[in-house]
Amino acid sequence: MKLAVIAHDGKKAEMVSFLNKHYDFLHQANIDIVATGTTGTHAQNAGLKVQRMLSGPHGGDAQIAAQVAEKKIHAVFFFRDPLDKHPHEPDINMLMRICDVHNVPLATNPATAEMVLMGLVGRSQQPKKK
Ligand code: PGA
Repeated sequence: MKLAVIAHDGKKAEMVSFLNKHYDFLHQANIDIVATGTTGTHAQNAGLKVQRMLSGPHGGDAQIAAQVAEKKIHAVFFFRDPLDKHPHEPDINMLMRICDVHNVPLATNPATAEMVLMGLVGRSQQPKKK
């Protein structure tokens, strides 16, 4: 299973601490993490193993949306900063729309992400459908 993580600048520290808190859990459940560029760098600097896409404003959200559409990503944690403006707002909306089109869980704050995580881990432990 693959989880995408994205955090706006004002939320990057929160994302890194969220990932740190749940990293062993994610690792044990065999959940790989893919991140937008700068979010990924922050996570890597904290010693976490994540795959990095382009930075969000340069197309990273679009790359993640494409993987959601291709069913390669099973959940998206997108810690948005509602108090800031973002030049790539169209890409952000597109990613959220694609999650809804494909019924892929999308958490936009840590409280929801925590609950989605429990569901993901539960799903990863279910026997594969034949
Ligand atoms: P970033 O992108 O991780 O490269 O900063 C996040 C975003 O989409 O704003």
